[in-house]
Amino acid sequence: MTDFTMEKDADGVAVITWDVKSKSMNVMSRDSMVVLDGLIDDALGDAAVKGIVITSGKDSFAGGMDLNVLGTIREEYKDNPAEGLFEFTMNGHKMLRKIERAGMDPKTLKGGKPIAAALPGTALGIGLELPLACHRIFAADNPKAKIGLPEIMVGIFPGAGGTTRLVRKMGAIAASPLLLEGKLNNPAKAKSAGVIDEVVAAEELLSSAKAWVLNATDADIVKPWDQKGYKMPGGAPYHPAGFMNFVGASAMVNGKTMGVYPAAKALLSAVYEGALVPFDTALQIEARWFTHVLMNPSSSAMIRSLFINKEALEKGANRPAVDDQKVKKVGVIGAGMMGAGIALVSALAGIQVVLIDAKQEAADKGKSYTADYMDKGISRKKATPEKKEAVLGLINATTDYAALAGCDLIVEAVFEDVGVKAEVTAKVQAACPDAVFATNTSTLPITELAKASNDAENFIGIHFFSPVDKMMLVEIIKGQKTGPVAVAKALDFVRQIRKTPIVVNDERFFYANRCIIPYINEGIRMVKEGVEPALIENAAKLVGMPLGPLQLTDETSIDLGVKIAKATKAAMGDAYDDAQDEVLFWMFDEGRLGRKSNSGFYAYDDKGKRQGLWDGLAAKYPVADEQPDLTTVQHRLLFAQVLEAVRALEEGVLEDIREGDVGAILGWGFAPWSGGPFSWLDIIGAPYAAERCDQLTAEFGERFTTPALLREMADKTQSFYGRFGKKADAA
Ligand code: NAD
Repeated sequence: MTDFTMEKDADGVAVITWDVKSKSMNVMSRDSMVVLDGLIDDALGDAAVKGIVITSGKDSFAGGMDLNVLGTIREEYKDNPAEGLFEFTMNGHKMLRKIERAGMDPKTLKGGKPIAAALPGTALGIGLELPLACHRIFAADNPKAKIGLPEIMVGIFPGAGGTTRLVRKMGAIAASPLLLEGKLNNPAKAKSAGVIDEVVAAEELLSSAKAWVLNATDADIVKPWDQKGYKMPGGAPYHPAGFMNFVGASAMVNGKTMGVYPAAKALLSAVYEGALVPFDTALQIEARWFTHVLMNPSSSAMIRSLFINKEALEKGANRPAVDDQKVKKVGVIGAGMMGAGIALVSALAGIQVVLIDAKQEAADKGKSYTADYMDKGISRKKATPEKKEAVLGLINATTDYAALAGCDLIVEAVFEDVGVKAEVTAKVQAACPDAVFATNTSTLPITELAKASNDAENFIGIHFFSPVDKMMLVEIIKGQKTGPVAVAKALDFVRQIRKTPIVVNDERFFYANRCIIPYINEGIRMVKEGVEPALIENAAKLVGMPLGPLQLTDETSIDLGVKIAKATKAAMGDAYDDAQDEVLFWMFDEGRLGRKSNSGFYAYDDKGKRQGLWDGLAAKYPVADEQPDLTTVQHRLLFAQVLEAVRALEEGVLEDIREGDVGAILGWGFAPWSGGPFSWLDIIGAPYAAERCDQLTAEFGERFTTPALLREMADKTQSFYGRFGKKADAA
């Protein structure tokens, strides 16, 4: 069974249907491109065929290219992967250009066969680039469908003509959110933006496309850029209006990406250079920049972490082989900030929720978070009042533990206090002894908390990040006695609520917090040393961290930092390194608690808007005359995190480097361009990493000591994915 099949009807329309039987959504493979090419040749060469409709056998059109193809090509063309990738890209252009020209006479532009795309639903990546090469795009009126080019999100850009066609169709400015931000639209919005041409009722999709194909004239199927005198909407670079756009776009992209994403820059170059030349040359330019990006290690690392491995983890790559553990009824204990969010995402996934707090007002307040969320959705036309009622109807806000009867999973999110948690654990067990019990603790060891339970095998950590509805990562923590059913339950729950799980073992701060705390500490430590705070913050952003360490401290609050510092010191004793505490405690004593007090390392206005770094900091911690160079600051900030990740792997907290990389990007925004801490170390190479650690240790202290594992890998010139990637390949 091939992925594309063709049927020619009595009216002379050849309908090509895309249906990858082994997948729930179509993805383009190398083989299927060859099949499609052959069908197009067949239809164009068949005198009985008047026109072609390309559609899908599923309720969506396509999810995009199978990005594993890129790795396969690299392997095949080991000696010159750029050649293989460029050839592959150009072959794609040739096929799509054949569709676009549809057999017409190149001089008279007559005699071509109309080709329409009929999209029943979601059309992403090449799933939109293929339609963009057709002469008319019809989409079913399916509000859930997403149409767009999200390639930039995984470190590449649309390289099957989507970049060149969209810019020529819409103009650079209108196309920029779609290309540079990967913005996806529903069909109605895609039509009003000018990406697609028609939105019709689902049952009329095929007939409308067929009717158009049969009635289209020669003129209807000539793309504007193939006509004489074509002018790019909004102007090409040397047009007065276009000039402004292109100059502005460059500044905007560099401002937004801080220059660390090669794909965004390459995309801009492809658009700018392509705009100066005829269409076919522009496609070649697009292919060259596309190849250039694919040859950058950042793009392979991003694709690996953000596409291939993220999906593998979501599909349960590390799930124990036990029966389906889908959650039917969840009990959420503690209706504060986290509990309210967990109740919301569970109800949105259709799961029945019992939301318990000590007082009814608190439980109700937790439920009202869902009501507010739905109201926002209604005002943005993303939800309906009926949907709101249905979601709210799933949440029972109460103080009565008896309501937990029938729950198969409990998520506890009460105060971060061992005693309070133990009391709640006992109450829950009395009310519903068979449920898997999960704690959302961010700092307390799971194995310790499990002692309050009489069923440690079914006790687990499910660590959400704040705000729950926005943060995509969920860290699942196995206590020493946690059994496979609890792990599977947690993983199936995370899958239901459509987030990405990592599964780690129980050590201080688990994985994400373990790595992010040293980042914050290193930043604060530099303040004490007299490093210019703006240098610290900008160095972090210029290496791809979403927030500088000082801003992050303000966001998470200084008092939380103080609390964690005290608790860690108490637990670690003499081994605790308190270099950052002086600054932190001083800020706390000054009452500068961060964003929540409208004062922290940054100054804020009355409305809470950040105004810039607080100038009072320099009075207490004067800026040194001599400042470190940018790279030194960046390396201190990055190594502080990645060395923790390596130690987590060494100690068995992490069992799979894929989880280490995906978790870092989704959990705390670790420089996504790098693909994660392990990918970053692979990019710079273990020998250089170890050498750099030695230098940092000599200059700044023992915390940068090269972990034994990294030293060994440096000596053997091994890479993390080379050494530990086996598990990933097997999945
Ligand atoms: P919160 O203070 O906003 O909410 C805690 C809620 O628990 C309150 O509504 C409180 O009334 C309720 N509660 C306290 N004792 C109770 C009891 N005996 N029975 C029933 N309800 C009780 O706190 P939060 O920020 O939602 O954090 C909750 C848990 O999640 C903590 O363990 C925290 O460490 C963890 N966590 C927090 C974050 C975060 O960013 N805030 C992130 C990850 C994990």
